[in-house]
Amino acid sequence: MKKKNLFGLTLEELETELSPLPKFRAKQIAAWIYQRGVTSFDEMNDLSKNLRGELAEKYFVQLPQLVKQLDSTDNLTTKFLLKFDDGATVETVLMRHDYGNSICISSQVGCAMGCKFCASTLKGLDRNLTAGEMLGEIIFVQNFLRVVNQKVDTLVIMGTGEPLVNFDNVIKMLRLLHKDYTLGLSYRKVTISTCGIVPAIRRLIDEQIPVTLSISLHAPTNKLRSEIMPINSAFNLKEVLKAGAEYAEVTGRRVTYEYILLGGVNDTEEHARQLAKILDGQLANVNLIPVNPVIERNFKPPTHNASQKFFHFLLTHGINVTIRKEMGADVNAACGQLRANS
Ligand code: SF4
Repeated sequence: MKKKNLFGLTLEELETELSPLPKFRAKQIAAWIYQRGVTSFDEMNDLSKNLRGELAEKYFVQLPQLVKQLDSTDNLTTKFLLKFDDGATVETVLMRHDYGNSICISSQVGCAMGCKFCASTLKGLDRNLTAGEMLGEIIFVQNFLRVVNQKVDTLVIMGTGEPLVNFDNVIKMLRLLHKDYTLGLSYRKVTISTCGIVPAIRRLIDEQIPVTLSISLHAPTNKLRSEIMPINSAFNLKEVLKAGAEYAEVTGRRVTYEYILLGGVNDTEEHARQLAKILDGQLANVNLIPVNPVIERNFKPPTHNASQKFFHFLLTHGINVTIRKEMGADVNAACGQLRANS
């Protein structure tokens, strides 16, 4: 009989799987797996030796395997290349901020969205990650941090993939991560990033989980946005902004609009003016991200002067705006640089 991986199951799924064992056994095992980072039944010492043996005959507990780890020179960013059962690999990034440890996970192997500045989409989409695989990225980093008495404090789903295309698995993972038998992570500490899949933004509203929504805008006109983000031909700026406004209205949470600054492409004062105009009256933040180099892409970063002028224009026109402090660019762990290898 083929052994089954217990990692990624909810408590209810564990109870069913382990039936007719009493339900409290499932709870004990969940705590070992998700809270103590234990993957060997031998170490689960509140289970009898016989039970441990029986479990090991039918099951195993496996997280993604570490293939490669890269640390930035300032030691604030660590990028992990992780491998799943079928050999697929993704990158997961740990960022040590002064407000805590933030982890950026991937939601798909590759990406079909084709954004022109992004490395993750260069080979298209391979497959969705399961809820268990995404949780595996997080528990892997949690186990890594446990050694130094630290933990994962915030989560961003902004790595490789478009999370709202893998909607059901992402929601299942978030609900699992929120349970007190896993990390009990508050939804308020989670950010989901999307390139603007409008129907899925509405589904997210219906889920009633107060996560922060981050929408990649990257251009203030449909013409320019379509040139750098093919998804704009399916869901244009007006539709995306309307869905964002609905999200803010229903959840009461400010939406973050990401705007990657591409030197000479979308970084002039006229672009800033157009952006301020389309965001007028929105409960929103704008996060400016000077583009990070990707070998296969031709975009160049904005000049310091251009990004400062863009920032100040928005600021003085009533827009909440920040410029992202970029982390991990020296290990290709920054925005738009993630891929399936290092
Ligand atoms: S930016 Fe996000 S949605 Fe666009 S191609 Fe990259 S991973 Fe996909």
